[in-house]
Amino acid sequence: MARVYNFGAGPAMLPEEVLARAGDELLDWRGTGMSVMEMSHRGEEFIGIAAEAERDLRELLSIPSHYKVLFLQGGATLQFAAVPMNLLGGRRKADYVLTGEWSRKAAAEAAAYADVAIAASSEDRGYGYAPPQEQWRVRPEAAYVHYCSNETIGGVEFHWIPQTDGVPLVADASSHLLSRPLDISRFGLVYAGAQKNIGPAGLTIVIVREDLIGRAAAGTPSVIDYARQAKADSMLNTPPTWAIYLAGLVFKWLKSIGGLAAIEARNIEKARLLYEAIDASGLYRNRVEPRDRSRMNVTFVLADPRLDDPFLKGAEERGLVQLKGHRSVGGMRASLYNAMPLAGVQRLVAYMREFEQRHG
Ligand code: PMP
Repeated sequence: MARVYNFGAGPAMLPEEVLARAGDELLDWRGTGMSVMEMSHRGEEFIGIAAEAERDLRELLSIPSHYKVLFLQGGATLQFAAVPMNLLGGRRKADYVLTGEWSRKAAAEAAAYADVAIAASSEDRGYGYAPPQEQWRVRPEAAYVHYCSNETIGGVEFHWIPQTDGVPLVADASSHLLSRPLDISRFGLVYAGAQKNIGPAGLTIVIVREDLIGRAAAGTPSVIDYARQAKADSMLNTPPTWAIYLAGLVFKWLKSIGGLAAIEARNIEKARLLYEAIDASGLYRNRVEPRDRSRMNVTFVLADPRLDDPFLKGAEERGLVQLKGHRSVGGMRASLYNAMPLAGVQRLVAYMREFEQRHG
């Protein structure tokens, strides 16, 4: 069996131990004679699996008890609408910080429900940085302020948590949740699609402060009404059972290696190695402000775009796959999520040096 190093932005690599365990349990989960995929979500076994997954997630992130954890569907994209539908609570105003493609999409979707204002933006320099705190202009009467704490396409990460003077802070943390410790108590709501650091696509995690829910707008579909889902333990309808089970295995894996502080140390090391290689070269260039560079999504361009295809082809021959940048920006992107081993980054860096010697 030859596993490749998959640098895709999501769906992304999962830890081999997790996949092996899921494989072992595929036909018969702990003597039940069935796969988790075949279980009733109302049965004792699955309810136990979901409850344990929530407990482990709470432990990993030290989620305070006055926060609800929801396991939903519809991807992060559905949250672009669910957030205003749930959090406006009778108000009209919602503020957004724009740092790239995903925060722009979130703001555009919210404009159907809210009076959206842009609290800060990095559009002036091609979304290549995270606007510093002093540039944020949050309306005190806004129901919330939304930002994307790691922009997956541009590779821009907030390495600090914004101060919003009492206005609830909402983060789309899809592409870095669980890659580092995070002080949840600083947020009103954090959401993330699972398919990067958490598990398979199909599961979306929402962590929300209790006092912010219960005032969903009239007409909010019940499955995205946070209060109704919280009351039903995220099982108002059939939940994505298999994805929740896999996420639970990923949480166990994270705990087994020492939790978020341990994975953060690995992630820092992987990102350092790759950015140093880029900065030392004459062929590759990263356009993000160094202090805002993402540890998760490392973007780079080649000095001559005609080399893109040969670069990708050579990479694939060496088992380094899905390095092509997002179609909207071109270039390359190496996503270094939790499950990417250091050895994968070492192999990539060695290949980049070899390619530069031949073509630089
Ligand atoms: N936000 C961010 C930061 C993302 O990276 C993505 C997906 N790559 C999305 C939102 C959209 O997620 P989904 O496809 O799960 O709706």
